[in-house]
This record gives sequence, structure tokens and C-alpha cells, in this order.
Amino acid sequence: MQSNTEKIDIKALTLEELKASLKTIGEKEFRAKQIYEWLHVKLARSFDEMTNLSKELRTKLASEYELVCVTELERYESKIDGTVKFLFRLPDGNVVECVLMKYHHGNSVCISSQVGCRMGCRFCASTLGGLTRNLRTSEMLDEVYQLQRLSGERVSNIVIMGTGEPMDNYDNFVKFVRMISSLDGLNISQRNITVSTCGLVPKMRALAEEGLSITLALSLHAPNDEERVKIMPVANSYKLQDVLNACDYYYEKTGRRISYEYSLVDGVNDTAACAKELSRLLKGKNCHVNLIPVNPIKERDYKRSTGNNIQNFKNILEKNRINVTIRREMGSDINAACGQLRKSYTDKTMVQEVEQ
Ligand code: SAH
Repeated sequence: MQSNTEKIDIKALTLEELKASLKTIGEKEFRAKQIYEWLHVKLARSFDEMTNLSKELRTKLASEYELVCVTELERYESKIDGTVKFLFRLPDGNVVECVLMKYHHGNSVCISSQVGCRMGCRFCASTLGGLTRNLRTSEMLDEVYQLQRLSGERVSNIVIMGTGEPMDNYDNFVKFVRMISSLDGLNISQRNITVSTCGLVPKMRALAEEGLSITLALSLHAPNDEERVKIMPVANSYKLQDVLNACDYYYEKTGRRISYEYSLVDGVNDTAACAKELSRLLKGKNCHVNLIPVNPIKERDYKRSTGNNIQNFKNILEKNRINVTIRREMGSDINAACGQLRKSYTDKTMVQEVEQ
């Protein structure tokens, strides 16, 4: 049997690339539009579904191209708010998690950008096993496609805040954004796409130059380098001031307001002094702060801030005229903390493998 790795990943080809590729196998250009529509609008999962193509062409496509799809392994549905968390299997057997959140204004999905992560944030479950590999553009696309297919409703918002650091998988991530927002594909508005980064400065600056209008969210989590480095090893590589300058640059270039994420950990970064320092840091910026009560993971002893401390923290920012919201918790009964589902799944299968 021919190995899949020798075939071209058809879902990762833009329409122009697909046209060029079909030409090399002796097919007419106009076929590209039909095939692209099957893949990216009708969300076909096999060449056989492409019924306006001849049987011969479908067979030929299957022999030349790999059609990357993710498949549902597990699903957890919140009884509180209808949020659904999925564990998807990738073609090579790795797993990633995604979340579907239903709001009044539409369906929002949270997708992963890598299998695992190498950034090492102390409170995050995704990073505990390190990085396995980057996701391909086609895999990121199919996370969204699969969620749309499974929900039966149109996806209107995407946040790239699942497992992984998108800026550490920059090219695949940028291509994903271009393709998912393309008029020939699902045509999801770039304004409804948010990417979250722990602050890889050169990539943030590069992103500012891409001509995209997506929202950039920065994982800040501390108001100074001394505290930040204790919970985010990436702060050893990039100074906070450089990270904030890169955010300013992104705003300057795109006109998109930066969203600063701040996970509140009891007794670590949730004091009034931290809130005041954060206010000084962000004062006057056109930005938004998202406070996230930390989701404790069993591997670390970080605790969630008390309701009082969260409210005080918010009040201090508001007094300084900083836009701030406390992240509404979705799916708290289905263990929606980043990376926890995948971690519990891989732990479980490892135990099974050892027992066998
Ligand atoms: N690597 C990217 C995106 C993934 S995480 C980044 O660092 O931004 C998305 C957000 O969830 C980040 O702000 C991250 O710091 C935060 N996060 C991760 N684990 C968390 C936890 N257990 N509790 C609260 N927030 C968490």
C-alpha cells in the first residue's frame, strides 16, 4: 500500500495551488473550483462524495492526494450551558481537543494548533508532556469543519486558544487563517477570529505585517518580568516591555484592539499591588483585559483566586479606565481547562498499554 505521506495534502492547497497541482496531473483548471468547493464549503470527507466528478477522476484524485480529516473520539456535553468538548483523532493517531460554544450571537469554536506545547507555562496542562508536533493547516481546517458538521450549524467565531502555541506553528497557522476566511471557503470573517499567544515577539511582529484583521490576544498573566518568569518560562526569552511594544505595533498596523489575558492564581498574581502595576502598564492603551480565574490542574498546586480577589482586581483596573471582563466560564462541569481532556486521554491509554 502506498504510504499517505507520499501523497499531496489536498486540503492544505489554496485554490490557486490546487489549480496548479491539477494541471500537473493533466486535469483541467475548472475542476479546481469544483473540488475546492467540495472540500471547503460542502466539507466532504471523501473523494467519493464528490458526485459531480466522474468515477475515474475520483479514483485518480484518491491515488494522488491525501484527504486529511479528523475524527471524533470522545465528546463531553455540558449540562449547564450546552458547551461541547471534543477529542479528535488525527490521521496519525495523535489526539487534540476542541470546544464548541453556543452563544446567542452564533457558534464559537476553540481549536488547537499543536499536539502538545513546548512553552512550559506552569499552570497549563497542555504543556506537561512537551510538544509532539505541529498541526498541519489541513488538520486545523478540519477541526473547524468537523465541528460545523457535528453541530449542524454554521461556525461564526474561531479562537485559536486550544492546545499549542500558534506562533510556534506560524506558517501553518497563517495559511489556516487565510483559507478559513477565504470567499471560496467557509468565508469566516477575520474579525471573528482571535489568536492567543504567550508572546513570541518576532512572530507577533511578523503577524502585524500579514495584512490580516484578526484579533491578537496576549497571555500576560503578570505585570512584571520578575513575576512573569516564575509562571511563564517564555519570559526568559522576551522581556515584557518588548512584548508590549510588539502588541502596540500590532495595533498600529492593524487597528485591532489587543486583548490581554490574565489568569488569576490565588496568592500569586491576584493581589491589589499586581492590579495596580497592571493598570500602570496598560493605562491609555486601547485594549481589553480578560481575567480568567485559573483552572487548577492536578499536577500543580495553583489555586483559583477567591471571588473577592477577582472582583477587587477588576475594580482596580476599572478605576483606571481599563476595559475588563471576567471570562464567563463555559462547560465548567466538563473539565474544560486547556489540555486537560487530551492529557487524561493520553494518560489513560498509556496505562492501558502498560497493562496489556
Ligand atoms: N499558547 C497560547 C494559546 C493557548 S492557551 C497562549 O499561551 O496564549 C489559551 C489561554 O489559556 C492562555 O492565556 C493560557 O495562558 C490560558 N490557560 C492555560 N491553562 C490555563 C488554566 N489551567 N487556567 C486558566 N487559564 C489557562
